[in-house]
Amino acid sequence: MNFYQQQVKEVFAELNTSKEGLSNEEAQKRLNKYGENELKTSEGTPKWVLLLSQFKDVLTIMLVVASGMSLLIGNYRDALVMLAIVFINVVIGFFQEFKAEKIMASLKKLVQSPAKVYRDGEITELAQQKLVPGDIISLEEGDKVPADLRIIESYNLRTNDVALTGESMPQEKHSNQINEEASLGDRSNMAYMGTNVASGSATGVVTATGTETEMGKIASLTQEEERSQSPLQQELSVVANRLAIFALIIGILLFGVSIYRGLDLYYALIYGLGITVAIVPQALPMQVTVALSQGIAKLSKENAVIKKLSSVETLGSTNIISTDKTGTLTKNEMTVKNLWFDGQEYEVTGLGYKPEGDILNQDGNPVSEEKKDELEIMLDAGTMASNAEIHPPDEDNPSWYPIGDPTEAALITLSTKLGTRSPNEDEENPELHEFSFDSERKRMSSIRKFEDGKFLTMKGALNSVLSITKYIYRDGEKVEITEEDKQRLNELNEKYSNNAMRVLAIAYRQLGPDETDYVIEEIERDVVFLGLVAMVDPPKEGVKEAIEDAHKAHINTYIMTGDHAITAKAVADEINLGTDKETPVITSQDLQQISDEELKNRMNKNESIIFSRVSPEDKLRIVKNLKAQDQIVAVTGDGVNDAPALKSAHIGVAMGQMGTDVSKETAEMILLDDSYPTLVHAIKEGRKIYNNLKKTVLASLTSNGAELSIVLLGLIGAAVFGWPIPILAIQILSIDLLAEILPLTALTFDPASEELMTTPPRDRDEHIINKSSTIEVVFLGVLMGGLAFINYGLFVTSIENKLTESHTLYSRATTITYLTIVVCQLLNILSHRYKFTSLLNANLFSNRKMIYSIIISIVLVLGVVYIPGLNSYLDFAPVPIQDWIRVLSAGGVFLLAFEGIKWYRRRNI
Ligand code: ADP
Ligand code: MG
Repeated sequence: MNFYQQQVKEVFAELNTSKEGLSNEEAQKRLNKYGENELKTSEGTPKWVLLLSQFKDVLTIMLVVASGMSLLIGNYRDALVMLAIVFINVVIGFFQEFKAEKIMASLKKLVQSPAKVYRDGEITELAQQKLVPGDIISLEEGDKVPADLRIIESYNLRTNDVALTGESMPQEKHSNQINEEASLGDRSNMAYMGTNVASGSATGVVTATGTETEMGKIASLTQEEERSQSPLQQELSVVANRLAIFALIIGILLFGVSIYRGLDLYYALIYGLGITVAIVPQALPMQVTVALSQGIAKLSKENAVIKKLSSVETLGSTNIISTDKTGTLTKNEMTVKNLWFDGQEYEVTGLGYKPEGDILNQDGNPVSEEKKDELEIMLDAGTMASNAEIHPPDEDNPSWYPIGDPTEAALITLSTKLGTRSPNEDEENPELHEFSFDSERKRMSSIRKFEDGKFLTMKGALNSVLSITKYIYRDGEKVEITEEDKQRLNELNEKYSNNAMRVLAIAYRQLGPDETDYVIEEIERDVVFLGLVAMVDPPKEGVKEAIEDAHKAHINTYIMTGDHAITAKAVADEINLGTDKETPVITSQDLQQISDEELKNRMNKNESIIFSRVSPEDKLRIVKNLKAQDQIVAVTGDGVNDAPALKSAHIGVAMGQMGTDVSKETAEMILLDDSYPTLVHAIKEGRKIYNNLKKTVLASLTSNGAELSIVLLGLIGAAVFGWPIPILAIQILSIDLLAEILPLTALTFDPASEELMTTPPRDRDEHIINKSSTIEVVFLGVLMGGLAFINYGLFVTSIENKLTESHTLYSRATTITYLTIVVCQLLNILSHRYKFTSLLNANLFSNRKMIYSIIISIVLVLGVVYIPGLNSYLDFAPVPIQDWIRVLSAGGVFLLAFEGIKWYRRRNI
């Protein structure tokens, strides 16, 4: 029979398990039998598809055709060289893409969150792959359902099943048996892998794992995620295509000229085609992919996981960070330091979750036993309305640590310090129902069965709890709360908040026996106020410095917190948020009163703002407002409700540790350490990556420009002076593939320049290829080609007429052209490292890879020119000193021109 048609105990019997879960030993056996809980579809593109896709590139096809034709006419050398290039391109392309895919796949594993499983009667966190049928797991709001489950206990559980059934509204789930046959969408006592928890919580027993799950059965139908190109990649393919067309036209012209000059038809064709192919920057798109994916790999080691290549680019243009406070700016290591109960204030000693410390009364003495008994009322209510646990140190954790919400764990620690918490308190007073915390209501409550009846226990933000408070606990009795009481409580709240503490109010209400319909509005009312607890949460290390860094880089930081304005303000002061200016606070209430226009104005006026007591809707509104102002926004979030804001932001940032699965799935980026400094670092890294790519692209296009112009000039030379063509296809190819490829790649490893991190981020709509960069590339390219042509022309005139007679002399002439371009291009690449600084003042050793790759390039170039046999085979000829003087002089002229451009830039900043 189907699991959904059985009673829970029948399900347990069939799966041979119980409410306490499996033993580790049994689980291991089952794991061996059923295998890991994984869908096998996520293996990515098959290797052969990846390999074949390398050939789809027009240029590669042209190369293959060209080499085929060369073979036909018996020009084996060119055929061989071109095939070798195809081979190298394909192999490199394949490995790079393969590597990029592997990086992306390994990142997926990094961001997966563990499942909460009962093993040997204890709840532990386990990788989702380790789940087996029969495991008992607990689900909370925002969790991904890690396997197929039969619900055995549900607290208002609702799941998003859209991925499985297409149903877009969250579905209510319960634990009751369903008698009749039901379709997948109607099995409301099951939760399926691939869906997630929209609200509420539940316990369930795993009925199927891996490919046996409903998702697994249809997994072959779910399509691969589309591979999207980043804006930069798109821009480059447009450029590459334009260049290809341009080159094709030149190729045809060349073909015509060759025919006209009486070359053999086949030979002319090959020649035209060869030059065409050679002129296009084949390596460029790949270099971009490599740089972006390397950047992603590096950042993931630094705790920032980026899910899409294109996000790296967006990251670099981010100018606003809207961040959470708790856990991102602060450690989220909550310790209760102060209490207020029954008119008295108390202080608590100790730090962290280690349950050692005293509760001191106002004279600084530990409280008496009688007082402890009384305090227990409040602390019990607090811990009953909490789900977290604290654990002693173990292998993975050097000190006591929390499982669950740190705010709640702080309460557990407190009551353990007091000595009033017994280990099985939760079981003795079982929970009948829970209204979970949400950042809108800002409180949480739990209905518990005690010996003397049913009680609602509650904790939450002071305002939130006061709004439904009717009584207050005084001298062992409940009396009606007065305005004075409320005022006093607000004063205390303010006082604690001023010390950057988070304040929680605790309350309870006895429920009547007839109150069995657990409707939130009817249950959460007329509560008895018990007391306040105030907890510290110190700022994270490095936050203050990161705030300063962001500020220098013209990145504004806004805090969006659910906490009280004063707490947030106090934290902001500790981390020096406004640098030296006062940071204004906008509360959720203020937000309700101001128009979008006014909000925009306030944001424009201030580099930093605190938004306090905000709800997820407020967050979304802030993000939308910023987007309407054309700001590039990175927004952090951790809850299910944050998903819309994360989605709307340019860069949605989820928390790796505290974040829900849903937020991680929505986000573009995940901070494994939940830390603001990591975010700032990633933004800066994004800037650097983009800027370095810009250098690579421009430097690379310059030599293509030079190649184009030398060929065009050669055409003119042929028409006017009857000179043979000044450079051969094979030489153009060896500029691209021997001389410049390594130094160009080394440019992507350039360290960030000082000015890059102290100037505003680039405009996101800015293109690398814009008017001014085009002018620059054309100018430098034409100059480079022109210098090469002059050197060629000088040589040709100096040996007048003999050129066509001797093949060696012709080879020497083209080698001079070749070397002139190579030398200029190496200087060009070096010059591109610094936008403003003259090469003479620059520290060339700050990029060692550049030095090495230039040395290697020079060795390779000298090799093809001077190694006997090799040089003549490839149509090069050794050149004597006097030719080198010409070549190096051309380099000097080129460098001078580039320095001129820099001088002009410096003057016009
Ligand atoms: P933050 O933006 O700092 O993460 P939250 O939305 O988590 O803020 O919390 C907002 C307020 O809700 C807190 O100031 C606190 O008073 C209350 N609160 C936080 N966590 C809990 C919880 N687990 N149970 C009840 N109330 C809570
Ligand atoms: Mg929070």
